[in-house]
Amino acid sequence: MQTLKADVVSITPLTEFVSKVVLAPEQPAEFEAGHYLQLVLAEKDKRAFSIASRPSQKQQIELHIGASGADSYAMQALDHLRQHHENGTQALIEVGLGVSQLRIDCTRPVVLLAGGTGFSYVKSMADHLAEIDCDRPVFFYWGVKHEDALYAKEEMQQWAAKRSNFTFIPVVEQPQGEWHGHTGLVHHAVMKDIVSLEPYSIYMAGRFDMIGIVRDDFIEHGAQREYMFADAFAFIK
Ligand SMILES: Cc1cc2nc3c(=O)[nH]c(=O)nc-3n(C[C@H](O)[C@H](O)[C@H](O)COP(=O)(O)OP(=O)(O)OC[C@H]3O[C@@H](n4cnc5c(N)ncnc54)[C@H](O)[C@@H]3O)c2cc1C
Repeated sequence: MQTLKADVVSITPLTEFVSKVVLAPEQPAEFEAGHYLQLVLAEKDKRAFSIASRPSQKQQIELHIGASGADSYAMQALDHLRQHHENGTQALIEVGLGVSQLRIDCTRPVVLLAGGTGFSYVKSMADHLAEIDCDRPVFFYWGVKHEDALYAKEEMQQWAAKRSNFTFIPVVEQPQGEWHGHTGLVHHAVMKDIVSLEPYSIYMAGRFDMIGIVRDDFIEHGAQREYMFADAFAFIK
């Protein structure tokens, strides 16, 4: 783990509730795809956020922070970052955390599963796999409640269209108006599309209540526990 000071370069809205934060650490950041960082608010108050950028981007780290509710865990972190941005001061971060980073094993096909802002965690891995030219099939599922939360849908569709081994599958839980893709819970879409998860390595991020359910349903659907990765496992039963 590296402890670094970082400039807060920008904070821009991706949706009404999700912000993109770009940090420029004072030294190159060392991390693997799928790692997270902690934003240090105080010695005993550190907030975890997945790193959306890929490991080769050592000078600028991108985060996607979903925050609603004035006093929420994430809103307090965003306010802290905004203050540094406005004052031109540096935030303190701990980079390179987690045990669910991408395993470079180009033999197993991969399912990347994101619920909401869990997108950040799997985006880093997808970008890294593309950069190292790994040719195993990658199925990137991104589930959201409403379509307007798919803030990177077009970008991901264009990105996957250029890569024959990548498939991007957005899933809207409660579609309003015209939506022609998968509906319902994102992991149900995976189980509809894939007969058995036995051969796959599976990486997932989302709400804690989601991850416990997905783990159990995927094991029923053939997934092997040793090939399922999520940092949320450390926080749930
Ligand atoms: C190590 C770590 C890193 C984190 N990194 C970030 C980060 O970078 N950014 C951030 O904002 N937060 C982060 N968090 C917090 C947490 O992961 C987020 O709160 C979560 O990803 C946010 O989901 P959402 O509210 O956007 O999803 P929602 O909008 O609530 O859900 C999106 C989709 O997830 C699925 N889903 C949700 N609940 C269930 C359920 N009960 N059962 C089945 N499927 C369900 C559905 O398909 C749903 O449509 C992190 C937490 C940890 C521990």
